[in-house]
Amino acid sequence: MDRFNLVKESFSKKALVADVPGRKTSEIFGELVFDRRKMHKYLDAVTLKSLLECIDNGVALDRKTADGVARGMKEWAMEHHVTHVTHWFQPLTDGTAEKHDSLIEYDGKGGVIETFDGKALAQQEPDASSFPSGGIRATFEARGYTAWDPTSPVFIQGDTLCIPTVFVSYTGEALDYKTPLKRALKAVNDAAVPVCQLFDPKVSKVYCYLGWEQEYFLVDEALYAARPDLMITGRTLMGHNSSKNQQLDDHYFGAIPSRVAAFMRDLEVAGHRLGIPIKTRHNEVAPNQFELAPIFGEANLANDQNQIVMNLMNSLARKHGFVVLLHEKPFDGINGSGKHNNWSLGTDTGVGLFSPGKDPMSNLQFVTFFVNTLAAVQKHNALLKASIASATNAHRLGANEAPPAIVSAFLGKTMTDVLRKLLTVPSDTPIEIAGKQGKTLGLIEIPEIFVDNTDRNRTSPFAFTGNRFEFRAVGSSANCAGAMTTLNAAVAEQLLEFKKAVDAELSAGKEVKIAVMDALKPVIAKVIDVVCFDGNGYSEEWRQEAVRRGLDVETSVPEMIREFMKPESVKLFTSTGVYNEKELEARNEVKWETYTKKIQIESRVMVRMATNHIIPSVLEYKSKLLKAVALNKEVFGTTEGCEAEMALIGKISGYVADIRKRAADMTDARKKANKLENEYDKAVAYHEIAESFPKIRRSIDKLEEIVDNRLWPLPKYRELLFIS
Ligand code: ADP
Ligand code: MG
Repeated sequence: MDRFNLVKESFSKKALVADVPGRKTSEIFGELVFDRRKMHKYLDAVTLKSLLECIDNGVALDRKTADGVARGMKEWAMEHHVTHVTHWFQPLTDGTAEKHDSLIEYDGKGGVIETFDGKALAQQEPDASSFPSGGIRATFEARGYTAWDPTSPVFIQGDTLCIPTVFVSYTGEALDYKTPLKRALKAVNDAAVPVCQLFDPKVSKVYCYLGWEQEYFLVDEALYAARPDLMITGRTLMGHNSSKNQQLDDHYFGAIPSRVAAFMRDLEVAGHRLGIPIKTRHNEVAPNQFELAPIFGEANLANDQNQIVMNLMNSLARKHGFVVLLHEKPFDGINGSGKHNNWSLGTDTGVGLFSPGKDPMSNLQFVTFFVNTLAAVQKHNALLKASIASATNAHRLGANEAPPAIVSAFLGKTMTDVLRKLLTVPSDTPIEIAGKQGKTLGLIEIPEIFVDNTDRNRTSPFAFTGNRFEFRAVGSSANCAGAMTTLNAAVAEQLLEFKKAVDAELSAGKEVKIAVMDALKPVIAKVIDVVCFDGNGYSEEWRQEAVRRGLDVETSVPEMIREFMKPESVKLFTSTGVYNEKELEARNEVKWETYTKKIQIESRVMVRMATNHIIPSVLEYKSKLLKAVALNKEVFGTTEGCEAEMALIGKISGYVADIRKRAADMTDARKKANKLENEYDKAVAYHEIAESFPKIRRSIDKLEEIVDNRLWPLPKYRELLFIS
C-alpha cells in the first residue's frame, strides 16, 4: 500500500457530486453578467444609447452616462445580494488583481446606505506600488489608475461586483496586459478595414477572435500539501518516472474519472453563469491532465474569460479535494500543458477572413489575409517566440512536445499548393472553390471547407486549421494577451505595408483583383520557402534547416526577451501604437526580473528539499543497511553475503556526495548572480543555474529508485498522477 493512501482515501470521498443548478444551461447562461440584455432592462434609453456608442464605436464615456450606468448596475447587483465592488485588472504578474470596497457610505443619520456612482465605476486609484512596473512608476509618478473597459462586461463573483479595467500609470503607460491588447486590436482593425474595403466597401470594422484551449493537471490536495516543490513552484523539481505514465495512450479522450467530472461540471456551471461559453472537456494525453475550451469570442473578452476561468479552476478544485496545476511542466517525462490560441479575424459584415468565400473575389480576400499573416509571422518569428517565453514555458519550448523553439507555420498541402500555383499563373486567374458540382472549375481551387487537410501536424507552433490559425506555443499559465498583442501588432504592420503596395499597383491603373494579386505574389515568394514548414518540427534536421532559412532558433529565455528591444520590434510596436519605447523597456525589465525570481525560488526549494527531505531520509536508509551489515558481522563473524547491501551503501554515498556538491555549487552561483545589478545579466546568470537543475535531480531520482519506499519523504509520481 502506498504511504499516502490514507490521506488520498479521505479526499476521494469528498464532494463527488457537482452543484447542478437544476436549470438548463440556456437559462443560467450569463445570469451573473451585466450584458446587453441587462443593459436594456436596467438602463434608461439615453444612458443605454450612450453606453452602446461607447462599447461599439469607442466614444468616450462621459460622467453623466457613467452615473446612469452605475445606477442600473447597482440595482441589478443588489438583486444578487452584492455587498462589494472591485476594479478587476491584469497586472504583469500571473493572474488577476482585485481590491474590494464595500458599497456602504454614511447616510448622515447614524446609519449607512449602499452607494455606487459613475466615478466609482469609471476610475479608481489603487495603491499600486507593489505591482511590477519595470520602473515606470518609480520614474514618473507613484500612482496607478484603473479605468473601466466597457467592452468587457461587468460580472458578479460571490458577493462582489467585478469591473474589468485597464491599469495604467499616471502618465498613461500601460502597467497591465489588457491595455496593449486593446491597442493591438485597434491597430489590426485600423489596418485590416481598408484592405477589406478593397473587396467590400461595406466593411467598417474588423474583429479579432480568440478561442483558447486550456490544458491543466489535477492533483490530490493532500498529496500536493506533502510536496513543497509543487506548493511553492507549481512543479515537481524531483521525482522518478512512474513505471506507467502515458506510454499506453490510455488517458487521452478516456473516460473522465467521476471525481474529476464533478469538478468539471461545477466549473462549467460557474463559467456559464458568468457568460463564458465553455464547450469542450476531455482527458488530455498525460495522466491527470485535462483540457477545457469555450466557443471562441472577441479576443479582449475571450481573454478576460480565460483569466476568470483560471481563477475559478483554482477555487473550485479545492472543493473537490484537488489542486489545479496550471504550470507548463509540472511533471518530468510526460507532456506539459499549453494553451492553444485559436486566432482569426472577421468583419462586421459577417465574413471570416480565414475562410474561403463564395466567389473568386472573396477567395482572393481570404488568400490576402492568409498570406499577409504568414508574412507577419515570418518577419517577427523571433518576437512571437519571445511573446510566449517565460521561465515556466521554457520547459516546453524545444522539448519534444509542442512547441519547438522555432516559430514556423503549417499550411497543409492544399494551401501550400494554392500558394505555389498562384506564383505561376497570370494575375487575373480567378481562385475558385474546388470541385463544386463535381467538376473542375479553374486553375486555382480551394476547398469550400478544409477537411483533413489541416491540423495533422501537431509539431507546428503556428498552424492553419481550416478557418483560423492556431498559435500553439502559448503556455498554460500565461495571459493570452502577451501572444495576442504581438501577433495582432505584427499582422497590423504587415497589412499596412501590403495596402501601400496595392495602392501603388492601383495608381498604375490596374483593376483591384490584378493589383491585389500583383502585390501578393512577391509576398508569397518571400514566405513560401521560409516560414512555411509542414514537416516534423521536433527533428534536428529542421533546426538546421531553420538556421539556413534565417528563422530564430534561440532557446534561452533571457535572450529571447531581448527581441522586444530590437529596432524592428520597436518600430513595429511604436508605429502601430501598441507600446512606446519606455513601455517596452519597462516590460523587459519585468520579464527578466520575473524570470530570475522564479528560478531563484525553484533553486532555493531544490536545495532545501535536497538538504532537509532527501538526504536525511537517505542517510536513515544507509544507516539501516550499515546496521544490517554490522549485525551480520557480529552474528556470523563475516560480511560475506552482504555484498549487495555494501554496494548499495556505496551507491548511496556517491549520490549523496554528488547532491551535496551540486547543491553547494548552486547556492554559490545564486550568491554570485544576486550581486549583479542589471536585470538582463542577472537573468542570464539564473538561466545557467536553471540549466544545472537536471543534474541534481538525476541523483535524487536515482536514490528514489533504490531507497526503501517507506522512508521516502515525498509522494511519488505514481501516487500523484493517478486519480481514480
Ligand atoms: P482542437 O483541440 O482540435 O484544436 P477544439 O475544438 O478543442 O479543437 O478547440 C478549438 C477552439 O478553436 C475552440 O475554442 C473553438 O471555438 C475555436 N475556434 C473555432 N473557429 C474559430 C475561429 N474562426 N476563430 C477563432 N477561434 C476559433
Ligand atoms: Mg487546438
